[in-house]
Amino acid sequence: MMVDVKAQLVKLVELHKLDAQIYARRRVVEEHPRRVEVLRKTLQGVRANLTMLEERLKQLQMERKEKEMDLSGKEENVRKYQGQQMQVKSNKEYSALQTEIDGLKADNSMLEEEILHLFDEIDRAAARVAEERQRFAQEEKRVQGEELVLGEERKTAEAELTQLNEKRKQMVPSLDPLVLKNYERVLANRAGSALVPIQGDACGGCHTHLPPQVINELKRSREIIACERCSRILYCEE
Ligand SMILES: [Zn+2]
Repeated sequence: MMVDVKAQLVKLVELHKLDAQIYARRRVVEEHPRRVEVLRKTLQGVRANLTMLEERLKQLQMERKEKEMDLSGKEENVRKYQGQQMQVKSNKEYSALQTEIDGLKADNSMLEEEILHLFDEIDRAAARVAEERQRFAQEEKRVQGEELVLGEERKTAEAELTQLNEKRKQMVPSLDPLVLKNYERVLANRAGSALVPIQGDACGGCHTHLPPQVINELKRSREIIACERCSRILYCEE
């Protein structure tokens, strides 16, 4: 049985348009998980930064608490030694206690300064935490919004794919099985680009120059001809 090459090419062009739509939707479906992953990673990054700042704040607050406890213990000791000073009998004992008290007071004034400094640091750290919390909340909202949009795009693409595949199923029987098989092989190898018109005297896919006899053959449409370089099926646009 002779294959009507011209008619087959017309059908292939039609099928190829449909396949381009199918490939585009498939890409949307296939890329969906990766795009969601990228969004979530971004959010995780902001979350990690927030956690780090929160930890830093907690650490500063603990440090302040420790120094405050140290200070009040030392203040307690100052009062205790001052009480003992009232009861000692000799000057020697008295001045020994005074030396202790002076030492403690020197420590305490240093502690007070450190505590004041920590208050400043805590204020700054708390402000950064508040800022970062706000940034995280905004980012979370943005990511959720984008995920919703991506999810809708995916759903639409899946619904359209079902329809397009149905259309394809109806179109396929009108093609010669060998022609179809060859076309589908190139389609798979060339990620959805299996059929190209010639452009001047070159392949419309890889732009390789085609010899004049190939151009003549194509114009006569007596057989299906593929580009020798990229394997795409060639045709002449009317
Ligand atoms: Zn080519």
